[in-house]
Amino acid sequence: MQQPTRDSYDVIVIGGGPAGSTAASIVAREGDHRVLLLDREKFPRFRIGESLMPATYWTFKRVGVLDKMRESAFPTKYSVQFFSGDGNSSAPFYFDEFDDHESAQTWQVDRVDFDKMMLDHAAESGVDVVQRANVREVIEEDGQVTGVRVELLEDGSERHIDCKVVIDASGQTSMLARRHGLKQIDPKLKHASYYTRFRGAQRDTGKDAGATLIMFTREHKSWFWFIPLPGDIVSVGVVAPVEHLASYGTADLQAVFDDELENCPTLHDRLRGATQEGDVKAIRDFSYISSRIAGDGWVLAGDAFGFLDPMYSTGVFLALTSGELAADSALDALKHGDYSAARLGQHGPKYLAGMESMRRLVYAYYDPKFSFPRFLKQHPECRDTLVNLLVGNVFRIDDSDMFAKMSGMVELPEPRRLASEAEVPS
Ligand SMILES: Cc1cc2nc3c(=O)[nH]c(=O)nc-3n(C[C@H](O)[C@H](O)[C@H](O)COP(=O)(O)OP(=O)(O)OC[C@H]3O[C@@H](n4cnc5c(N)ncnc54)[C@H](O)[C@@H]3O)c2cc1C
Repeated sequence: MQQPTRDSYDVIVIGGGPAGSTAASIVAREGDHRVLLLDREKFPRFRIGESLMPATYWTFKRVGVLDKMRESAFPTKYSVQFFSGDGNSSAPFYFDEFDDHESAQTWQVDRVDFDKMMLDHAAESGVDVVQRANVREVIEEDGQVTGVRVELLEDGSERHIDCKVVIDASGQTSMLARRHGLKQIDPKLKHASYYTRFRGAQRDTGKDAGATLIMFTREHKSWFWFIPLPGDIVSVGVVAPVEHLASYGTADLQAVFDDELENCPTLHDRLRGATQEGDVKAIRDFSYISSRIAGDGWVLAGDAFGFLDPMYSTGVFLALTSGELAADSALDALKHGDYSAARLGQHGPKYLAGMESMRRLVYAYYDPKFSFPRFLKQHPECRDTLVNLLVGNVFRIDDSDMFAKMSGMVELPEPRRLASEAEVPS
């Protein structure tokens, strides 16, 4: 049975998804620190969210998994293409349109294999990885985190383990955000998704074979993703407001999925002759952020901080990026012996600003009166910025001019801010 090897660590990471594995690997590889990663599940385990953004490249490179990705069987993704409800499509957005570096392409991953690869890599990087370890409580003394109480599920035993920093990467469980009442749900993006997989769907060929397709249904009330995976499998899911899916008045997920599919002619054609693999499943798909990204002795990463509608496949990219940024802040805190919220959350404003850019794009795309092809026809000079955002270069470019022009055509949300954006002592 796996056990933590010590009673005290520098950093404890809760959760071994992409955010947690990344954060743990970086702290262990770059800081010569003692790192423990705890996950309550046994990997390989399923997760939704297969389509990556190209900018994940830089985190893969830093963490040291780029060669593993290159050698994998994951299909290469060069573009994303959007279809309206009447079947009209934008031209594919090729990520290498303005930059043909290797980082302008990415992969469609089966999360069962991808998450296990990332977790194994964390262990190879020197992280103490313990699975089937359910963190029951993050222990705080006088408002400062001092460790965790964890239940080892193999034998039901409990351990108290001390640490200087907790990185909460517990996904939508959002352990610390819930405990501190920080979770803020986006009232306009309360969605759910019904999803499954198909074998033998009609896929594009050549450079388009690995493209993500986003297809609206006829009345623009819902949209489907179509994500090619290894073998002859595609991941297909429909996303819609909760009340739209509930309006069917049935708990028969398959029946609702089939009705939605009937309403999406482009996808319907592609699935003719394909065989469904497995039941239709449902997942809540609410967008949210936490009003703070850090406290004294703790920092949030990935879905544990925030989640954005999957329209642009931002989830894993944001998990990797925030894992990386949380690791940087934790390394800085360890270097200075300062585990304050200000130091552990120093990256928060920059990170949230990037998330907000993608949220503005989500709002624009959901507005039935707005059309990206029309916008680009009026403002062709904005295409470079838009492609950069679809690549995930959201933390690297200035997109203010594009959003100023876009706001003349569509109502965009005001950027949110974190509750406390204190200065970090130098
Ligand atoms: C409908 C839908 C479609 C999506 N499509 C995409 C997509 O195409 N592309 C994309 O990039 N993203 C997509 N996503 C988002 C993506 O799934 C997530 O953003 C991503 O998994 C977040 O990674 P994470 O590491 O933060 O959390 P997770 O991957 O959820 O990992 C969290 C881990 O924490 C562990 N954990 C939780 N609580 C505890 C505890 N108390 N103790 C110990 N361990 C704990 C869990 O077992 C889990 O392994 C989609 C999401 C939805 C809802």
